[in-house]
Amino acid sequence: MTTRSPLPRRIQTLTGVLLASMTLTGTALASSPANVDAKRIESIANGGEAGNWLSHGRGYDEKRYSPLTQINDGNVAGLSLAWTHKLDIDMGVEATPIVVDGVMYTTGPFSIVYALDAATGKLLWKHDPGVPKSIAGQGCCGPVNRGVAVWKGKVYVGTFDGRLLALDAATGMEKWSVDTVIDHAKSYTITGAPRIVKGKVLIGNGGAEFGVRGYVTAYDADSGKQAWRFFTVPGDPALPPEDDAMKMALKTWFGNGWVKWGGGGTVWDSMSYDPELNQLYIGVGNGSPFNYQFRSEGKGDNLFLSSIVALDPDTGKYIWHYQTTPADRWDFTAAQQMVLADVAIDGKPRKVLMQAPKNGFFYVLDRTNGKLISAKNIVPINWATHVDLATGRPAMVPEAADYAAGPKLISPAIIGAHNWHPMSYHPKTGLVYIPAQETAAGLEAQDEPLFIPSKSVVNIGLKVPELPEDPSIVEKISQSWRGRLIAWDPIKQEARWSQEYRTIYNGGTLATAGNLVFQGTADGRVLAYAADSGALLWESPANTGVMAGPVSYEAGGEQYITFMAGWGGTFPRLLGPLSLAAKVRPEARILTYKLGGKAQLPAQKYDPVPLPPPPPNTLEADKLPVARRLFNGFCANCHGLNAVSGGVVPDLRYLSTDSHLQFNAIVAGARAAKGMPAFADAMLPEHMELIHQYIIKRAHDLQSELAALKAAK
Ligand code: CA
Repeated sequence: MTTRSPLPRRIQTLTGVLLASMTLTGTALASSPANVDAKRIESIANGGEAGNWLSHGRGYDEKRYSPLTQINDGNVAGLSLAWTHKLDIDMGVEATPIVVDGVMYTTGPFSIVYALDAATGKLLWKHDPGVPKSIAGQGCCGPVNRGVAVWKGKVYVGTFDGRLLALDAATGMEKWSVDTVIDHAKSYTITGAPRIVKGKVLIGNGGAEFGVRGYVTAYDADSGKQAWRFFTVPGDPALPPEDDAMKMALKTWFGNGWVKWGGGGTVWDSMSYDPELNQLYIGVGNGSPFNYQFRSEGKGDNLFLSSIVALDPDTGKYIWHYQTTPADRWDFTAAQQMVLADVAIDGKPRKVLMQAPKNGFFYVLDRTNGKLISAKNIVPINWATHVDLATGRPAMVPEAADYAAGPKLISPAIIGAHNWHPMSYHPKTGLVYIPAQETAAGLEAQDEPLFIPSKSVVNIGLKVPELPEDPSIVEKISQSWRGRLIAWDPIKQEARWSQEYRTIYNGGTLATAGNLVFQGTADGRVLAYAADSGALLWESPANTGVMAGPVSYEAGGEQYITFMAGWGGTFPRLLGPLSLAAKVRPEARILTYKLGGKAQLPAQKYDPVPLPPPPPNTLEADKLPVARRLFNGFCANCHGLNAVSGGVVPDLRYLSTDSHLQFNAIVAGARAAKGMPAFADAMLPEHMELIHQYIIKRAHDLQSELAALKAAK
């Protein structure tokens, strides 16, 4: 039997969209908003569009350089808040806003899109694509989003559940939507910003930690029709390869472990484009599972993992590749930003592509053919000594890095020497401003490949990272990890200046013609340095960790600087105990500054939360190691190693008496609508019990730590 609808289906859908997704505030936009085309974006490379930020890295060359000079090294001390806008969900904010002719288009957690008046911060419209909260755990690093693309009156966003949407730039109404996911049985997500090249919207996916196969897809910007798809790793060797590139790549893989457990190679963040060469560059991520023995029998380079690949943007056909980390087994993605510049090297003009991937090296490539020009490590590392300029390959140090032979302390840690936080290039100083970090962590192979049929459980083929529970040891490790802003000379391959931070995971950078470099920090500040000397010229509180790359634009004759503030990502989740040194809480907010701005930053209150009395500790001492391993395997990716949260996702040591009583139901999915995944199918009842006992034990540990602190005062 069917129920008769009171409305025809089409109208019903439209009404649903209006009610569910839209907040119209009735403000009239310019008659043709977001009127961006190839000519406008391409003019940026020659100093055009000074007051706009038209594409993710401002131009196709992804330099993140603004030619505006109203705010400069002589007056930046007078910079103050012009306006702020609070975002809906207090989680990680990674978006780079796009600003076109006085309108800002940006995103917050759960892929929500905001359009605002760039001069006043007034909300023009908002589009919530309705990503289910229950899938928040199906990505490595939370439901983050790095921003939109705009093109000819439309705004494009990739959603955390894998859709690509085209919205009307005037109203935020959905024009079309496509599903980019090839297999919904796997945890494919989108966190990256689309790019638009020659009328095609380009988007990749995330999910390598969960066993997906990477690819990038081009869709017609008008209709959403698929134009081409390029896979980054081979499919099942029993089937014919999709194209010549996959035929070539297949020769570098062995066994069929990657078919069972993923392959990886997701294009989750970076792309750039050279219109003159007609080459599109994609940055490819790490292998899945991390463990190379399980993935490829410990043999072969595993193309195109951890590679920069040049494609023909019209057809998606392979042109060249450069693999930064052959046979990746350390999560050393090459998905980091690729800056295109024309520079003089040894007196000759060279078209270069520059990248600082996770593995710690800074690469300068000839982007016409992918040949390595130079490479040098930007921070101390131990996994390789150098990159051989003749072969382009890193000289790996097996004693330090090959964990197949036993556990190793590897630097950089999987969080990378430089992660997605964007760097910037200043054509006048010739320097690249890199939000870098110094880290080291242990990696240890699992005895057997692990396959848990849950979309919320990370599957990397390694033992869960161990972190001692002793807070004094955690503090020592935390102090040995540090953030660093490095002004890197890419020609000399050396640091010109650098600034040190208390923790890692500081924000992306922006370079401006006013001799300035802007950066937000993990510990809740926004800063400006002199681009040439590194002198600190301006500092202001942000109330929360700032990770995204700032932008600059002009509206009504005034120059503005915008930081997207909001704490989240891997560091305060998995590495919660180490992230506490940043001493911030998540508060997602757009912060926009100008000279003589009059807005006030609302005060952030840090009321200490009382620890509810935990139930009796029943964990037997000999069960502690297995209980800890179970917790860290199932829960730590969101709630933090050893049940210490960095504050973005609830700290389970503070569970209420009521939640303890409902523990099994919550783990089975009772709070899925609030973002807690259902583990009912993936977890044995006795494991659930041990995990619960471990959380209670850790609450007792915290009770003792707090009592000792109080006694010491
Ligand atoms: Ca990864």
